[in-house]
Amino acid sequence: MSEQQTEPAETDVSIGEKLVELAKRRGYFFQSSGAYGGVGGFYTFGPQGAALKGNVEDAWRDRFAVAEGNMEIDAPTIMPEPVFEASGHLDGFDDMLVECPDCGESHRADHVVEDNTEYEDAESLPIPEVEEVIAEYELVCPNCGAGLAGQAVETFNLMFGTNIGPGDSQPGYLRPETAQGIFVEFPRLKEYARNQLPFGVSQIGRAYRNEISPRRSIIRTREFTQAELEFFIDPETDEPDLSAVADVEVRLYPASEQNAEDGEEIRTTIGDAVAEGILASPWVAYFLGVAKRWYDAVGVDMDRFRFRQHLSGERAHYASDCWDAEGELDGNWIELAGFSDRGDYDLSKHAAHSEDRFTVFRQYDEPKTVERATVDPDMSYLGPEFGGDAQAVVSELETLAGRDRSAFEGDSVTIDLDGESHELPTEKTGFAVEEQTEAGEHIIPHVIEPSFGVDRLVYTVLHHAYREDEVDGEDRTYLELDPEVAPTVVGVFPLQNDDELEATANDIVADLRDAGLSVTYDDSGNIGRRYRRQDEVGTPFCVTVDYETLENEATTVTVRERDTTAQKRLPVSDLPELMADLRAGELAFADLDGENES
Ligand code: ATP
Repeated sequence: MSEQQTEPAETDVSIGEKLVELAKRRGYFFQSSGAYGGVGGFYTFGPQGAALKGNVEDAWRDRFAVAEGNMEIDAPTIMPEPVFEASGHLDGFDDMLVECPDCGESHRADHVVEDNTEYEDAESLPIPEVEEVIAEYELVCPNCGAGLAGQAVETFNLMFGTNIGPGDSQPGYLRPETAQGIFVEFPRLKEYARNQLPFGVSQIGRAYRNEISPRRSIIRTREFTQAELEFFIDPETDEPDLSAVADVEVRLYPASEQNAEDGEEIRTTIGDAVAEGILASPWVAYFLGVAKRWYDAVGVDMDRFRFRQHLSGERAHYASDCWDAEGELDGNWIELAGFSDRGDYDLSKHAAHSEDRFTVFRQYDEPKTVERATVDPDMSYLGPEFGGDAQAVVSELETLAGRDRSAFEGDSVTIDLDGESHELPTEKTGFAVEEQTEAGEHIIPHVIEPSFGVDRLVYTVLHHAYREDEVDGEDRTYLELDPEVAPTVVGVFPLQNDDELEATANDIVADLRDAGLSVTYDDSGNIGRRYRRQDEVGTPFCVTVDYETLENEATTVTVRERDTTAQKRLPVSDLPELMADLRAGELAFADLDGENES
């Protein structure tokens, strides 16, 4: 993650702190296991947070699974060791650790460097260089201020290990990304896709990383939710429909600009960025376009959003090109999602380490006639001559025939068996070259991966929605959440503690809930206070039942809009439909017909 400093907006500086306080008070998120002192890097989403997170996940599913016609799966979070040996995570999923000699606190060495020097991408530096920078800049422990110069920087693997079943004979790991759960099931998933590329498989689920120093509340935790799409393509033939996203405007920060002295972000469209070669992979470009529109729709401020290309040293072990979606928070750019071209890395690795087939059959346009060299060894000769090694000799001959036909041109053939040369008469190998007609070939698909962090997105949506203003001479804090993702859509209040008002308000609550809306009922405190409470959790509309509601034949209520605090008198019978349309963005409050109230 890059957390480069931008020009911090003066008013912005403490929004993160205010948000964390609001989140705890109003039930968005808080550190978990508080009764036992809490533990770093684990957070609980409270009632509002769980609802907001659920809405964001639903919106992601609607866009990246349903609307794109991709499958969704739900795989286990614990997987056996061989999976991560194959994927490379056991060897290479490391961060740089430096420990304070005084207080013993562990820190990510690259973050200590990035936060206190002009280095923006310390992750890509070799360890000895990071040690040198720490010494040269006399960097200190962020916790106690003791000097870190001379401390060894070590690699630390981020995987959480466990044992599967009793004893320790079957080690397992909590998955560090949901992706591996998709890759290992590829041999079955391709069947569900009828062996036709391209196809996509998505998954929303928990991932676990034993982060050295979790920080900034839910931005860097040890257990978090990812929403990932693995899109399998034939790199030679499959192309995305770029016309669907060509006109999407984007702010791009390519590696070349980051490396240049006066490098700048480029504002362009997806179509132009592909045409000019700024985005090399049309598939990555396609998903950047889809993602930009989606982030906008769920409430990320597009003035504080960009795509940044990874520098070469920063890329994960599997990626050939990678762009991050980044959101600006309190002057820092935070990675929200990564878009990688993973090539055939993952499927090749699992194919090599497992017994299953990770290929798809690519049909040729026209069948091809090809020459194939084959062997049909004389076993009555090989058996007595090579004994138990006879089968190994057959395999060697097969491999040799495929690799080097000229080896069979003389009277004898030389093969290598366990480092020893053996000669045998060519006539005993049954060597022949035959013509065969082939309809196609088996290929390992390539993978394009959009990988979204849900927790960071929830934080960003709240941060970008955070507002302070003054209403009727009083300070107000409110969250300008999009009604489609807001945890609660309507707050319903009886004006006073009165049986009739309460009964009518409860009927309205029931009708609104029947219409599928999330509603809260509140009868405690004065109306102003109840409005403030709903403003603070970001409830976009409030309905107040008063005596006029009871008197009128065609009963009406006051409906108040959160952002403008404007109020309108509207018929109770219309509420479910109106509220559903307002939530879906099909209606604007300002366009409603009702009588304005002050
Ligand atoms: P970082 O560089 O910030 O550690 P990453 O590049 O390792 O992140 P990816 O492996 O690309 O992250 O994971 C995809 C997404 O998962 C990230 O964009 C981020 O939103 C989310 N994510 C990764 N690590 C964490 C974490 N520790 N806590 C919360 N979200 C995370």
